[in-house]
Amino acid sequence: MLSTIAGKTTIVTGGSKGIGKGIAKVFAAQGAKVMIAARTEEAAKAAVAEITAAGGTAAYHLCDVADWAEVEGLITATKAAFGSVDILCANAGIFPQKKMVDMSAEDWDGVMATNLKSTFLCVKACIPEFEANGQGRVIVTSSITGPVTGYPGWSHYGASKAGQLGFIKTAAMELARYNTTINAVMPGNIVTEGLEGLGEGYLATMAASIPLKRLGSVEDIGNAALFFASDEAGYITGQQIVVDGGQILPESLEAIAEI
Ligand code: NAP
Repeated sequence: MLSTIAGKTTIVTGGSKGIGKGIAKVFAAQGAKVMIAARTEEAAKAAVAEITAAGGTAAYHLCDVADWAEVEGLITATKAAFGSVDILCANAGIFPQKKMVDMSAEDWDGVMATNLKSTFLCVKACIPEFEANGQGRVIVTSSITGPVTGYPGWSHYGASKAGQLGFIKTAAMELARYNTTINAVMPGNIVTEGLEGLGEGYLATMAASIPLKRLGSVEDIGNAALFFASDEAGYITGQQIVVDGGQILPESLEAIAEI
């Protein structure tokens, strides 16, 4: 049994859909007050309704996490709604697939801004809150794609996800003086609206290549994030955990066929 995060204000960027919504639901079920940040109102509103219908506490704020002024607005709105910021789940991300021959400089910059620059911006914006509280927690959603594996069409995405892991090493050192930890979850293939957009064929071949023979659920990632937010994880910082059903383990097609 982990210590409680009940009453702790948690910002979940990209909390209106997919993994972020899963994290938001897991944290709200533990009594956290959840602020969902995303750009599209309909989905954000629906996610808040889902959480409150289940007895949780949640609100949303529309914001582009790649824009500093909008991220500052997110912190202001969170404090106005819930009084503080205790935990940041920097999760928002995009994964448009484009091979390098077709990729423009703008494509590259767009993915870097939404996935990597946003991580820095959101963490930076929370520092005064963590300093005022005397403690804080940051959980970053990275990926296996980039840090561990590759996939054609995701050179920019993979670089952004590996960049997040590079970022947390130094960020952990700089945040230590605020009694704040920062760690990353590296999901494998998790069933989300975004992943479903890649088509049934992709989902089926992916599931077949995973030793546990299923795609992950958003709760699988939410539970890993919850651990990093707990008191019990208080001495872990600058680290990452793969949550992928064993997807990165097989050395070859023969190895997976042996299971
Ligand atoms: P998703 O279902 O497409 O959801 C993405 C979320 O991010 C939405 O809430 C979206 O809302 C928000 N978002 C996107 N761009 C934003 C921006 N500029 N500002 C604010 N919010 C923004 O994606 P997902 O599959 O849950 O992925 C979430 C995270 O997990 C990403 O960082 C992704 O790299 C990582 N991940 C996913 C998988 C997987 O298998 N699904 C695997 C490894 C890692 P709006 O569009 O309304 O802004």
